[in-house]
Amino acid sequence: MNVLFPALRDAPSAPALRFGDRALSYRQLAAVAGPLADRIGGASRVALWATPTLETAVGAVAALLAGVPAVPVNPKIGESELAHIVADSAPSLVLAAPDAVLPDALAALPRVAIVADAPPEGAQPPPFPAEPGDEAPALIVYTSGTTGPPKGVVLPRRAIARTLDALADAWQWTSGDVLVHGLPLFHVHGLILGILGPLRRGGSVHHLGRFTTEAVARELSADGTMLFGVPTMYHRLATEAERDPALAKALARARLLVSGSAALPLTVQERIAAAAGRRVIERYGMTETLMNTSVRADGPDAAGTVGVPLPGVSVRLVDEAGRVVEASDGETVGEIQVHGPNLFTAYLNRPDATAAAFDGEWFRTGDMALRDTTGNYRIVGRKATDLIKSGGYKIGAGEIENALLAHPGVAEAAVTGAPDEDLGERIVAWIVAETGPDAGPPPTAEQLADHVANQLAPHKRPRTIHFLDALPRNDMGKILKRALRA
Ligand code: ATP
Ligand code: MG
Repeated sequence: MNVLFPALRDAPSAPALRFGDRALSYRQLAAVAGPLADRIGGASRVALWATPTLETAVGAVAALLAGVPAVPVNPKIGESELAHIVADSAPSLVLAAPDAVLPDALAALPRVAIVADAPPEGAQPPPFPAEPGDEAPALIVYTSGTTGPPKGVVLPRRAIARTLDALADAWQWTSGDVLVHGLPLFHVHGLILGILGPLRRGGSVHHLGRFTTEAVARELSADGTMLFGVPTMYHRLATEAERDPALAKALARARLLVSGSAALPLTVQERIAAAAGRRVIERYGMTETLMNTSVRADGPDAAGTVGVPLPGVSVRLVDEAGRVVEASDGETVGEIQVHGPNLFTAYLNRPDATAAAFDGEWFRTGDMALRDTTGNYRIVGRKATDLIKSGGYKIGAGEIENALLAHPGVAEAAVTGAPDEDLGERIVAWIVAETGPDAGPPPTAEQLADHVANQLAPHKRPRTIHFLDALPRNDMGKILKRALRA
């Protein structure tokens, strides 16, 4: 398995990376990443200033070729979070585009400029250094910080290679695929799946720089075959495809539309199906585990679920008493625990957190799910924030959010629990009302609470409803429930 990117060693003139009007073939990528790998070889650890550019992709490939662990850094990161990441990961140098303006904490480090301009096609790639072993740390990726301060996740080459190969199997991903990509490059989704994925297959990626529905329409109408997105992107695509037949047609042409990083609301799935006649495939993963489950491209429709375990990955559900739940009844909820070749090595500098995250070989994801009668997993929410204990019931926030989103007056919804003397916890809903030309008058709190009680059950009625202009979200579009609760 040792070679991460076989196509890079063969170095054909087939396209590899394209960012706007800048592109590199495999041969050219080898010719620019090889010398860069030579320059950083021997460094203990590098920070990668991860702007959505060709330079970031080349820098990541060079670090992987050199066997130097790279720490991708969000270029929009706040000062205190950056200070935490730099102190925690202690990079010995920083890789950045020549024109990048770095914040002080990184500007203080020795800097190596990533030169990613296309060399002549005839340029001879240098011989690559021998690749390190499968367990060598390849990337240190910080978690999204949705539930607390981000943790550094040490990912070995083995986890990256095995996850990408499992996804290739589930999605029938080949060298013929052209991925349309509009995600940031400092997390698993955008960097590992979106850049390293196509390169491991010998296929190519078109990065949009910035996600817009117009750019997606253009690339999928040209030669794009796959799209990776987060739910907020599919929400925008659904809204736009309902108005714009050209976008609907472009989405219909795609071989595969994939969503992940957060739950895809069923309404979004249904609206894309109605507008473009296409399903969106959902997959489930985390920084620590890379990908665990996915709906298969060759499998039956499974909207509203995250599909089945990927090849090589074992999944079990465990109840609060620590018992394994065997049921496939669509009702019994447990914590998802996983093991397999996709797992990380450890949290950086956090042996305590690493030990606490495992039950033997099983990694505790902190996500709650059930298995439906067809064997597909349905995520109910996070154990820490999405399970509301109210009046003796355990209620999943996701189900109430989906019911609220099904109301025509609701654009976005989040549900949290708040302490309640009488009920233990009370259900609180945070709503962004539908605006836009076709929207009627915004619904009242009373109407929305009745809607949920009628759709689901009386005990699932939100007791408090707040109307907001926007929900607090992080860079991946994930709703920050700890900000709402505060
Ligand atoms: P932190 O661990 O710092 O609080 P985070 O968990 O959001 O942040 P990531 O590792 O980027 O950081 O995200 C993994 C989480 O994203 C999963 O544990 C799960 O809660 C959520 N997730 C990913 N894919 C899906 C999906 N398809 N449906 C629902 N949730 C998902
Ligand atoms: Mg997490």
